[in-house]
Amino acid sequence: MIKVFGHKSPDTDATCSAIIWSWYLNEHSLRDAQAFVLGELNTETQFVLNYWNTDTPQLLEQLDANDEVIVVDTNNPQELPENINDVQLVQLIDHHKLVGGLQTAAPVDITMRPLACTATVLHDLMGESVVSALPREIAGLMLSCILSDTLEFRSPTTTPHDKDVAEKLAAQLEIDLHSYANEMFAAKSDISSFSDKGLVTLDSKKYGVGDKNFRVSVLETTTPQTVLARKDGILSAIAEVIAEENDVDEVLFFIIDILNEEATVLTYNDLTKKVIETSFGVTVEGDTEVLPGVVSRKKQILPALKL
Ligand code: MN
Ligand code: MN
Repeated sequence: MIKVFGHKSPDTDATCSAIIWSWYLNEHSLRDAQAFVLGELNTETQFVLNYWNTDTPQLLEQLDANDEVIVVDTNNPQELPENINDVQLVQLIDHHKLVGGLQTAAPVDITMRPLACTATVLHDLMGESVVSALPREIAGLMLSCILSDTLEFRSPTTTPHDKDVAEKLAAQLEIDLHSYANEMFAAKSDISSFSDKGLVTLDSKKYGVGDKNFRVSVLETTTPQTVLARKDGILSAIAEVIAEENDVDEVLFFIIDILNEEATVLTYNDLTKKVIETSFGVTVEGDTEVLPGVVSRKKQILPALKL
């Protein structure tokens, strides 16, 4: 059995792309595959799985050297199980920048495309005859991945092709794309069940800038005020994370306002202030800074970061 999974801090694309691709392998390639996740799901992904009557994938406990695995939605070994280079990686499907570090003992099938989400890549790999007759839940999960990763086409990572595929799927499913996206974002904005530390690590990627290592955390929401109301707790949680993780110097925490298309970043000490000032050309006054138009970590935050 092939184990299919995405990155740690699983999001909708990582989780649902693993489900979609295992469905495809089981149905169309006669390979026995099963989807897994590497951590707790966010409330948007829980909503999506529930909406499309899909079971939550099992938590991946451990990988053995002879396990065959397929990785989706990342190519970064830091976001994967520790022993990823010691198992049988047979396929990698992704849409992120190539960071290096993955190694295999045998040749591996790699598809990486500059599209907004992994599910769009999967859609294209499956081919027209398969995608025109997808089961309802698989088409629904595919649409959800695109809406999630593009923030309903607001993110600059969106390509015309992602939009076309999403609109085609919504038509096929006979659902209203806009109201469904709003339901997803409302689910994502309900953070009441998360601890402050849970919010800091929910959607977080480690990223090196010069001689400093950051955790770049984003929280996409339609109600930024509910996140800012917990600022003190979040700052304590950030201090805790920095104390626990030897390889993290600072946490950059961005609250992404999906509807107003802006980010509010926490600038709680000299280093975070300096990084935000240098990277975004702003003068930081207090312990938060609003960055208009910034919604994408991949396209607007990480490439801008400098010391
Ligand atoms: Mn992802
Ligand atoms: Mn993705």
